[in-house]
Amino acid sequence: ILQLSVPLQFLGFLYRELRTSLVDMESMFNTLSRKSALPDGSRELKRSQEGASVTAKDLKFGYSDARQVLKGVSFSIKPGQSVAIVGPSGSGKSTIVRLLLRMYDPQHGSMAIDGVDVRDLTQESLRSAVAVVPQDTVLFNDTIFYNIAYGRPTASKDDIITAAKMAKLHDAIMRMPDGYETLVGERGLKLSGGEKQRVAIARAFLKSPRMLCCDEATSALDSGTEAAILDSLKELAAGRTCLFVAHRLSTVAHCDHILVMDAGLIVEEGTHEELVQKGGAYSKMWSLQQAEKKEDAPENGHNGAN
Ligand code: ATP
Repeated sequence: ILQLSVPLQFLGFLYRELRTSLVDMESMFNTLSRKSALPDGSRELKRSQEGASVTAKDLKFGYSDARQVLKGVSFSIKPGQSVAIVGPSGSGKSTIVRLLLRMYDPQHGSMAIDGVDVRDLTQESLRSAVAVVPQDTVLFNDTIFYNIAYGRPTASKDDIITAAKMAKLHDAIMRMPDGYETLVGERGLKLSGGEKQRVAIARAFLKSPRMLCCDEATSALDSGTEAAILDSLKELAAGRTCLFVAHRLSTVAHCDHILVMDAGLIVEEGTHEELVQKGGAYSKMWSLQQAEKKEDAPENGHNGAN
């Protein structure tokens, strides 16, 4: 029965996917083709342990031969550590995460989790041990319940509610017209940017992964929402290995270690305090962002009431 129920569940999943919008289908086919494009490894990544170690050794990678995007990137993350990758747009931050998730293989060097090259891991065990909170969460044209359950299709109703509470989304759901049965997505209730991120956080809580990869949204949320989401993320990150790709430095100042990228290379690394002290690229970015923040703040009179 078990042998039969797994493919049946998958068919159900496919059917639900197929009746969603074009955008959703596109992301599904991308995922499916990516899976088959790379040969699968045979080693299982353990699910039971807390936190995972990550070691990147001299990663060189380009999406095409014409341009190298990573030009020799090395770093290591201890189990349970939170590490941020910062740097200008296009410097290769998200590409590092894509290599970790094995959406692509590097042309040179290696990426290992718990000392095992990700190419030697089964993609299934890799995907179940790592949760991703992306920049922009794709919602399926289905209920908010289904959208959260996407993190673990076999979850019970209690599990979903617990995850929604952890992500501080439960109260907002209770205010929706049909509660957990409310239809969301393109053809349903539109969720705000902050709520969509909370759906991704709830999916991640539900998955209870050893590792978390988080791509900070470039579109700014209001500062209250941003701070509240950061709190949820910190809770989710506790005891797990986390990789944050960030644009606003204020959101990663708390991380154990920060990697500063520029044009495909790590140009500086350290804690927030160390990097500010150093007076290099990070400290310049930090001063710039602090100045922008002051300009945006209404209390300094720039948005004057005249
Ligand atoms: P951002 O802060 O804007 O998210 P990033 O530092 O995360 O940028 P990446 O997404 O890693 O940057 O992209 C690095 C470079 O690789 C960019 O020049 C980008 O245009 C290119 N690139 C990214 N994805 C692809 C792709 N699928 N095919 C070809 N080039 C790509």
